[in-house]
Amino acid sequence: MLALTFNEIRKDYLLDRWVVIATARGRRPTDFARQERPQAKSAECPLCRGNEHMTPPAVLVYLKDDDHIKKTFDEGDHRHKDWIIRVIPNLYPAFSPPKQETEVKEISKSPNLSLAIGHHEVLIESQKHDDSPANAPVPQVVHVVNAYIDRLRELSGKPYVKYVSIFRNHGLEAGASLSHAHSQIIATPTIPLTIREEMDASKKFLAQHKKCVFCDVIEKERGGPRLILENSKFVAIAPYASVNPMEFWIIPKKHETSPLQMNAEQIKIFAETLKTCLGGLKTLVNDPPYNYGFHLALDNKTDDHYHWHLEVYPRLAIWAGFEKSTGMYINTMTPETAAESMKNCVST
Ligand SMILES: [Zn+2]
Ligand SMILES: [Zn+2]
Ligand SMILES: [Zn+2]
Repeated sequence: MLALTFNEIRKDYLLDRWVVIATARGRRPTDFARQERPQAKSAECPLCRGNEHMTPPAVLVYLKDDDHIKKTFDEGDHRHKDWIIRVIPNLYPAFSPPKQETEVKEISKSPNLSLAIGHHEVLIESQKHDDSPANAPVPQVVHVVNAYIDRLRELSGKPYVKYVSIFRNHGLEAGASLSHAHSQIIATPTIPLTIREEMDASKKFLAQHKKCVFCDVIEKERGGPRLILENSKFVAIAPYASVNPMEFWIIPKKHETSPLQMNAEQIKIFAETLKTCLGGLKTLVNDPPYNYGFHLALDNKTDDHYHWHLEVYPRLAIWAGFEKSTGMYINTMTPETAAESMKNCVST
């Protein structure tokens, strides 16, 4: 009689989130590679060089000034040309800044109603349309990360901002309605659920185990089957309970709660790590759509237990009835397979 092999139900390191990992008959990265990917269509790209007048005034512009970067912004109808990075307000913002001081005091209307006061910005990563982090030269990716940090510092200093989400949608199927290389930044007046759950769970973990859960994850995954790469400052891993095929996280080895704590050397190595991993994903699965987002903490109450990281979610599966109606997920590729393929790809 044939022995039955079961798939595994795995729990996330922190969240009470469970995923069925198809260990019994898992798929390979090549199963997800497609020849054609749909692209957003636009007659003229408003984010390309020369079309600055098609956008609102930038709140941050990086200009080249000899060997330095000059940081400035657009005023009125004037638009800076020959920029390296531009950050503009989103034309259709989900969150908008308060128009007067009194609104700030009235964000919370009732236990189940708040005003969507905050900021919603688009960070244009390059003058070149296709300069996404997998393609762009490392110095350009460094500018992108520096601009993330500049906006994070500015927005997190506002009294009505409780969280700043920095994320990137790549490809039409991942929600990028413009195909020009860009990221988005949303500053919110509350801490979103996933972040709050991670903070609560990591606080609990510290109380029980007397250490940071992320430092513990690094220690346990280092050298194991889910490690993609390790350099002097970061590790990239396919998490144990990956919800998405080819999902990976980049975690700083130094215990830090936010990217605001990175020095110039760390920023450079982070940019290299990001480019290497996204480049590997692009090669392996033929430039798949993906989303990534930073998870970070902004107040010092979380210093001992929270540890920032970047989570990358390739969009290779469609969540359907089971996932949507239960909150339990099915991942048809094991993180061990994903890590092995990525590891081979990024080390060559
Ligand atoms: Zn463009
Ligand atoms: Zn830590
Ligand atoms: Zn996280």
